[in-house]
Amino acid sequence: MEAARLSELSTSMIRRIFEVVQEARRKGIDILNLSVGEPDFDTHPEIVKKAYEAMQKGYTHYTSNFGIEELRTLIAERYGVEAENVMVTTGASEALLNASLAFIERGNKVVIPSPNFLSYFSYAKMCEAEIVQVKTHPSFEIDVNAFNEVMDRKVSVIFLNYPNNPTGFIADEKTLKAVAEIAEDCNAIVVSDEIYDTIYYDKKPVSLAGLENVVVVNGFSKTLAMTGWRIGFVIASDDLLDSMLKVHQVNGVCAPAFAQKAVADVLASGKAEEIVAEMVKEFRARRDFVYKELTDMGLEAVKPEGAFYIFPKVPANCVEFAEKLVEHGVAVTPGTPFGDGNESYIRISYATSMENLRKAMERMKGFVESL
Ligand code: PMP
Repeated sequence: MEAARLSELSTSMIRRIFEVVQEARRKGIDILNLSVGEPDFDTHPEIVKKAYEAMQKGYTHYTSNFGIEELRTLIAERYGVEAENVMVTTGASEALLNASLAFIERGNKVVIPSPNFLSYFSYAKMCEAEIVQVKTHPSFEIDVNAFNEVMDRKVSVIFLNYPNNPTGFIADEKTLKAVAEIAEDCNAIVVSDEIYDTIYYDKKPVSLAGLENVVVVNGFSKTLAMTGWRIGFVIASDDLLDSMLKVHQVNGVCAPAFAQKAVADVLASGKAEEIVAEMVKEFRARRDFVYKELTDMGLEAVKPEGAFYIFPKVPANCVEFAEKLVEHGVAVTPGTPFGDGNESYIRISYATSMENLRKAMERMKGFVESL
């Protein structure tokens, strides 16, 4: 029998689109997939080589629960914090679950600005919390007054994610600091998911690392195109890290040793910045292209400042729109799983080739004109 804490979790929306895509493929429709949440680039061969060498050197065992010292130190240097305040995790997802289990009390409130990464809703539900959403449409900036209104001492965790999945929006420093301050007044913890932090186009995202009541979650899945390697990390004060360690010790235990070593080596070599820059250059061209195409179609969209998603408004219910669009050969993600107020939005991931994007935009244009 399934535990009650899972009763509110649903995979139905994503599964439904997946099934619609499968069905269309069975009918012989060629589908361009713009629903993927990972870079289309393979991990750089240099990193693969370093992992292989690490395996040969014996990086095949458990590491410390905190991660290998080299990697912790390199991460700490990047943020100007102490290595003791860094813990390497099995992807950012493990870090998010650790933080949720460590800080969300059953029946407490969890504040999630909408739209946002859909897993936050699942973590909050697994912890049997009450979810409070703060809508950010149409600009996707948090209205600090509206945020302040929902905050009280029953709030244990606030999830923030900038650059944001699904909008690509980057909040400014003033707003982020205001949110962190209000959270502190309520004794709440901000979980700042900064997983897309190096994928930005002009405005540089600000990190909340170093603030007392903030847990920064990050990793290398997106920024170094390493989703399958499962290397994430958290940065937090001693007390908060101790609490998360209790979960991590029985959950992720440690991230894959050879993958940790490969990341440490590539960071130390300076090659990581080059890899990121190449990828961001390509994402920028795609972002400019997709944004222009969508606005030329007459769709309202906020120009993404980071990540590799765009969240346009569509002239229909998002699920119906996404399902019909599949018949025209393009798969996107409907807005509803990303929170309240997203019924007329869709998420497009431009982590696919320019050639695919050109074809997809052409098909989408035909579909939108037919509405
Ligand atoms: N946070 C956000 C905002 C994400 O988009 C994702 C991946 N879709 C994750 C966390 C999970 O990252 P990881 O693969 O490192 O677990």
